[in-house]
Amino acid sequence: MRIGTPLAPSATRVMLLGAGELGKEVVIAFQRLGVEVVAVDRYPDAPGHQVAHRAHAIDMTDPVALTAVIEQEQPQYVIPEIEAIATTALLAVEEAGTATVVPTARATRLTMDREGIRRLAAEELGLPTSPYAFADSLDEVSAAIDDGIGFPCVLKPVMSSSGKGQSVLRSAADLGPAWDYAMAGGRVAGTRVIVEGFVDFDYEITQLTVRAADGTHFCAPIGHLQEHGDYVESWQPQPMSEAAAAAARDVAGRITEALGGRGVFGVELFVRGDEVLFSEVSPRPHDTGLVTLATQRLSEFELHARAVLGLPVDVSLRSPGASAVIYGGVDAKAVGFEGVDAALAVPGTDVRLFGKPESFATRRMGVAVAAADDVETARSRATEAAGLVRVVVD
Ligand code: AMP
Repeated sequence: MRIGTPLAPSATRVMLLGAGELGKEVVIAFQRLGVEVVAVDRYPDAPGHQVAHRAHAIDMTDPVALTAVIEQEQPQYVIPEIEAIATTALLAVEEAGTATVVPTARATRLTMDREGIRRLAAEELGLPTSPYAFADSLDEVSAAIDDGIGFPCVLKPVMSSSGKGQSVLRSAADLGPAWDYAMAGGRVAGTRVIVEGFVDFDYEITQLTVRAADGTHFCAPIGHLQEHGDYVESWQPQPMSEAAAAAARDVAGRITEALGGRGVFGVELFVRGDEVLFSEVSPRPHDTGLVTLATQRLSEFELHARAVLGLPVDVSLRSPGASAVIYGGVDAKAVGFEGVDAALAVPGTDVRLFGKPESFATRRMGVAVAAADDVETARSRATEAAGLVRVVVD
């Protein structure tokens, strides 16, 4: 294992595909280890662009453009940070052996749509999940509900994330609107959908799992609150029964083992009593894991960088903590932030402003994180701090 000098022929070079808020923290983690970082996103001046050695703005779903940028930069590691990527180009890179795709090209392909990962988890590995079916038409959705999924259920485009196009159906009257919403909300027009039985969980967690050179490591469970399919608050550790915590690690260990490679994975799980259901997995740091900036000795971003490079990892918790999202609230370019001084006066808090060039009402523009002696205090500190930051337009 050897790290070179950035911007010299000996450089250890990584390329981030996706340079949003999570990518930005991964870039910083690599920068601290003296790694040369190239950040790619679909628009200029993305958060990760601003802290990388070089930046590219391309359509990452275009395999020709993606292949060209990889050939131009010749990274040793290609690190996807988003799902909407031309995974065929990544498979070709991996086959040619010119770069390591993190964690693997197959993992990025399987997790880019809900069908690949759900079939792997439920049908190949036999992991417990909600009942589900895939459908290409409203009639097929209706038949799947009649055949056993029943109401309430959740309809999601297979090519979507963060709750886009997702709705809960409580009766047959919801079918038409939910279908139209799913068709409009997918990443790809006319995509198929998954219909899932609604899980009446006690709580949901992200089990961050690190596949490192010396084996698999599990972070303390992260609890989180979702609104409209998007995370608004997270905290660590989530209190769990021993049986549920063990089941969570078992499910996370099995799905990440099946995906392979090295790096951080965010395994999303629903917990009901001692029972744990698999929901989804991101083969990369997870948004709810922003809390680890306040809680762990090494954040999920530092863990990712270390695992990718084959360095030792340490998943130990330093303090209970919480994170709360700061939303744009307005549609405007080049906004300002007021109240950061008041937010940082809340004890134990820190604020990250992502530096996104354009704000949208529901766009995540920053996050407040807080440490405290207990999770409840940390949550109230984080939400108070986030609420004190105001987005202003000149
Ligand atoms: P997803 O985009 O699949 O991660 O879903 C976003 C959020 O919607 C989850 O974190 C849950 O809070 C909720 N959700 C998704 N699927 C289900 C389900 N089958 N039952 C209950 N809640 C769900």
